[in-house]
Amino acid sequence: MPRYEFRCRTCGDTFELSRPMAESSDPASCPAGHDDTVKLLSAVAVGGSAAGAPAPSGGGGGGCCGGGCCG
Ligand SMILES: [Zn+2]
Repeated sequence: MPRYEFRCRTCGDTFELSRPMAESSDPASCPAGHDDTVKLLSAVAVGGSAAGAPAPSGGGGGGCCGGGCCG
């Protein structure tokens, strides 16, 4: 299961969550219970290859715009 990094804007803490890709953009609460968090775009190693291969995002947006080909 991929891990996602979040940062809490209330206490400034960063934390990681392991969650299904389908829930990657769901709101997350920080360990202290704050709801004002943002998801960080950290390099999440899902497969075997390192950086370079843009993973298809399960969230919004079309498949094309994920790789920067849309400008
Ligand atoms: Zn917090």
